[in-house]
Amino acid sequence: MSEFDLIRQHFTRATRHTDLGVGDDAALISCHASMQLAISTDMLVAGTHFFEDANPYFIGWKSLAVNISDMAAMGADPKWATLAIALPQNDPAWLQQFSAGFFDCAQAFDVDLIGGDTTQGPLTISVQIIGKVPIGKALRRNGAKLDDDIWVSGRLGDAAMALAHLQGKFTLPESLLAVCKQALDAPQPRVKLGLALENIAHCVIDISDGLLADLGHILEASKLGACLKLGEIPYSKNVFFDKGLRDPQLLKMVLAGGDDYELCFSASPDKRADIIELSKDLNLPLTMIGQMTSGTGVSLLGLDNEIVAFKETGFDHFS
Ligand code: ADP
Ligand code: MG
Repeated sequence: MSEFDLIRQHFTRATRHTDLGVGDDAALISCHASMQLAISTDMLVAGTHFFEDANPYFIGWKSLAVNISDMAAMGADPKWATLAIALPQNDPAWLQQFSAGFFDCAQAFDVDLIGGDTTQGPLTISVQIIGKVPIGKALRRNGAKLDDDIWVSGRLGDAAMALAHLQGKFTLPESLLAVCKQALDAPQPRVKLGLALENIAHCVIDISDGLLADLGHILEASKLGACLKLGEIPYSKNVFFDKGLRDPQLLKMVLAGGDDYELCFSASPDKRADIIELSKDLNLPLTMIGQMTSGTGVSLLGLDNEIVAFKETGFDHFS
């Protein structure tokens, strides 16, 4: 099978909102004059972002989902993606499952795959995502205001717990294993939330490297500090975790574990009722975990209202 047959068979599907898709030297898209394009790229490397022998369906899903999450974090509507992939060999069974996962995610979030590149090499997947956002409405990291509430969606730490379990560093109870593995394998980017936050939030980020690291980016860009209440942080509580967040390993996974793909945002306290309403509409927990303060960095208020010292910040490829 040639490279072109491979592309035709595995990476060419009908598009829904694209002028010219896979097959020419470049794709063509149209965008309304009142909109800006939001563009982002995330790369996944075997051995770094997933186990080489991981289920290819989930590698496909996740490689697109993590990119869509960046659109959610901008308040943008994801529409188009390109896929550059290096494959060790032409393995039709692997490719069939990979593309099924990729296109299931594309379908779920109404994204067209419009082009890419295919080459032989160590398994590496680079996806570029393009979304639409009304001009001037993107939710940037620098918009937080003093005394804003800080909110997160969903639960933090599930993916990190599943990873630690797979690595034999932590034991998850049976009752949590499936849900945590799902969070690790098939993250659900919060696109509807990102779009709905347009007139509610002052700033948004997606949590890919851990809450403290990603909130840290907001604080730096907005030139503020934050005070978080440990007792408010949403995570998979279980009778099995008898010490709760007093267990340093659990605390580290919840505050600094990667791969959550939940949104962290700040909003004025007068938006609390709107946010609680939105949480019901989306059937997605939205939890207020703290406030923006003057100064720099995050201070953590512990379960007994003590100040908690926490050094770990999050995942950094080069530290
Ligand atoms: P070129 O030689 O002009 O770079 P290619 O042979 O790399 O073109 O690709 C042919 C067509 O297939 C292009 O439209 C390209 O965007 C598309 N394509 C290549 N690889 C992929 C892929 N993995 N997923 C989607 N489209 C792809
Ligand atoms: Mg090419």
